[in-house]
Amino acid sequence: QTTLKSKAKDPYPDWKPGEPVPYAALCTTFSLIEMASKRLIITSHCALFFRQVLRLTPADVLPTVLLMVNKLAADYAGIELGIGESLIMKAIGESTGRSLAVIKQDQKEIGDLGLVAVKSRANQPTMFKPKPLTVKAVHEGLVKIATTSGNGAQGRKVDVIKKLLSAADGHKAGKFDLTVDKGGASEAKFLVRFLEGKLRLGLAERTVLVALSQAIVCHETEANGSGKVPSTEALAKGESSIKQVFSNLPSYDIIIPAMLEHGIANLQANCKLQPGIPLKPMLAKPTKAITEVLDKFENQTFTCEYKYDGERAQIHYVAKDSPQQYRGASTAATETATGGLAAIFSRNSEDLSKKYPDILEKLNTWVKSDTKSFVLDCESVGWDMVEKKVLPFQQLMTRKRKDVKVEDVKVKVCVFAFDLLFLNGEAVVEKPLRERRELLQRAFTPIEGEFQFATSMDGQEIDEIQQFLDDSVKASCEGLMVKMLDGTESSYEPSKRSRNWLKIKKDYLAGIGDSLDLVVLGAYFGKGKRASVYGAFLLACYNSNSETYETICNIGTGFSEAVLEELYAQLKEITIDRSKPFYLHSTSNQHQPDVWFEPKYVWEVKTADLTISPRYKAGGKEGVDPSGEEKGISLRFPRFIKMRDDKKPNMATNSRQVVEMYRKQESVTKNKGPAADDDF
Ligand code: ATP
Repeated sequence: QTTLKSKAKDPYPDWKPGEPVPYAALCTTFSLIEMASKRLIITSHCALFFRQVLRLTPADVLPTVLLMVNKLAADYAGIELGIGESLIMKAIGESTGRSLAVIKQDQKEIGDLGLVAVKSRANQPTMFKPKPLTVKAVHEGLVKIATTSGNGAQGRKVDVIKKLLSAADGHKAGKFDLTVDKGGASEAKFLVRFLEGKLRLGLAERTVLVALSQAIVCHETEANGSGKVPSTEALAKGESSIKQVFSNLPSYDIIIPAMLEHGIANLQANCKLQPGIPLKPMLAKPTKAITEVLDKFENQTFTCEYKYDGERAQIHYVAKDSPQQYRGASTAATETATGGLAAIFSRNSEDLSKKYPDILEKLNTWVKSDTKSFVLDCESVGWDMVEKKVLPFQQLMTRKRKDVKVEDVKVKVCVFAFDLLFLNGEAVVEKPLRERRELLQRAFTPIEGEFQFATSMDGQEIDEIQQFLDDSVKASCEGLMVKMLDGTESSYEPSKRSRNWLKIKKDYLAGIGDSLDLVVLGAYFGKGKRASVYGAFLLACYNSNSETYETICNIGTGFSEAVLEELYAQLKEITIDRSKPFYLHSTSNQHQPDVWFEPKYVWEVKTADLTISPRYKAGGKEGVDPSGEEKGISLRFPRFIKMRDDKKPNMATNSRQVVEMYRKQESVTKNKGPAADDDF
C-alpha cells in the first residue's frame, strides 16, 4: 500500500491534466517493471502509473491497458500485427539510415531487436526534435499496421513503423552501452518489442488487471473526499470484482468505460456475460485412472461425458425478436435464416464463423422457437454421413480455415453441445451443472449429424465408468470428461483449468495422464531418406511468468514421410538466423539445432514419462532439480500426435503444468531408481 500513496513525487512533470498520456511515461514504467522481479513490486509500478493516468487523462486508460498487455484489441476482434522479424529489421534500417546487413549483424550480437533499434537510433544524428509520441498515437499507429492489407501492404506497414520509430525517443545517454541500455526506458526499444509480440517484462495480464483495480479503488477513495489510503478489504473486493467480471466478459472496450462511469463497486452489475463477447472456456485437469477420479470426487455426485475429438466451438446467438442485444463486433456475426445474429468462437476466442458457415446455416433447425438468445459450449466434430458416426480429428483439420463456402464443404461437422452459459437474456454459469444441462436439453432439438447433446452417464460406480469409457472409445472419442454435477462447485468456471472437470484419455491411462502441447523452436536435418527435410525437432513449453520458451525434448518419432514434407514446407518459411533471447536451451554446442524458428506452431506430443535432464530447461527455474543446478525436465520417448492449429504458442503447456506432471509422477514412481536421460 505504501507505494500507492498519493504523496508520491510526480515523476512526469510535463504531463498536464487532460493531455494525452506521453508514451515516454509508459516506457519509464515498463523499464521499472523490467528491472523488478517480485510480483508485488511489478504490480505497484503498474498501479502507480494507472493512478496517474486516472488523475490526468482517464480517457487514455483503455489504450494504456492494451499496450501494457501487448494487445491491440480483444482477441475476438482479430486485429493482429502480422509482421515478422525481417520487416521490423527493414524498418529499423530504413528509418535510421543503416543497412540491413548491419542490423542483422547487431541482432546476432545483441539478440534483442528492441536494443538493436536503440543502438541504431544512438548512431543517428538528430536533426530536429520530433513531436513526442503519445500512448494513443502509438496504439493508433499499431492498429494501422495491423489493418493495412491489399496491394503493397508490406511497404505501407514498413512506412508506419518507420514513422513511429522516427518519432520514438531512441536514446538518452549519447553513446550506446548495452549494460546501461538493457534496462533503459527507450521508446524505440519497447515499440520494437511490441511489434515482435513480446514485451518481455514478466508482466502477466492478470497483474495488469489487479493493478488497475488497485488504482481505481485508490482513485475513488481519493475522489470521494476521504483522502485516505483504501482499506485492504476494499482493495481485495476491487480485485476480485474485476477478475470475476473479466472472466465473464473479457472485453476492455466494455469494462473500462463502465468502470470509469459507474465505479468499480457497480462493475459486476454493469458488465455481465453476453452474446457476442466470447469468454475463455473452462478447462479440465488430467487424470490417469478411474480410481483417481473416484478419489478426487469422493462423496460428490459427478457425471461422465464422452470427450469428443474435434475443435472447441462457443456458439453465440441472439434472435431477431430478442430483447437481448448482440454486443460484440456485429461485423463478425452472421445473419441466420430467421434474421437473428450468430457467431462461433474458438478456444482462443478467435472468430470461427467463416470456417463453419454450414453450422450457422442450419442453426435455426435445432434452436427452439422460444429460445431467443444463448451462449453454448460445444465441440465441433467431423461427421461421417454414410456410417453416421464421428470422424477422426485429422479429417476435421483438412477443412479450410477461412472463407469456407457451404457448397464446397467436404468434411461435414456435427456440433456436440456439452454446456450452456447464457440463455434468454440471463447468464447461467453460476447454476449447478445439473440445472444447466436441463436448460440445455429443453432449449434445443437434437438432430443426428447436425446438433447433438454430448453423450453422458451419471453412474458413480467404477464398473459403470469403465464400461462408459470403453463405449466412448468405440464411438471414436478420446475418452471421458468427468464433471462435478451438483452444488456451487459444479458452476461453469470461465478461463479456469478446474479440478471440477477431469479428463481421462484412453491413450494415457498407463502413462502420465495427458499429452503436452509444445512449441517447435528448432529442427535438425534428417539423414538418408530424410536428408531433404527436417528429421527431428526441438520442442519447448511456455513459461508465462518469464514469457520464455523452455526446451523440453528433441522429437523424431510419430511422423509419416508425408507429414515431414508438409512440416518442412511450413517451417522453412519461419526460419530465423539464431535462437531468440527468450528461448531457454542448453548453451552447449553439441545441443544446438541446425535451424531455429519463430515461435509459431504448437504440436501435441505424447510421452512415456518425464525425467530430469541437464540438456533441457523446462521448469528448471522452479527448482525441480534436487541438485540445485537448475536442470530442466524432459520427455522420454516423445511421440508426435498432431498439430494443434487451434493453439497459439503462448497457450502451449505451461512450465508450471510440466512441473506438476513431473511431481505427480515422481510421487508415484518413487523408489524405482533414477530415470535415464532422453535422446532421440
Ligand atoms: P486437450 O488436448 O485434451 O484437448 P485442452 O488443453 O485443449 O486439451 P482440456 O481442458 O485439457 O483442453 O480438455 C478439454 C477439451 O476437450 C475441451 O477444450 C473441448 O474442446 C474438448 N471436449 C470434448 N468433449 C468435451 C466435453 N464433453 N466436455 C468438455 N470438453 C470437451
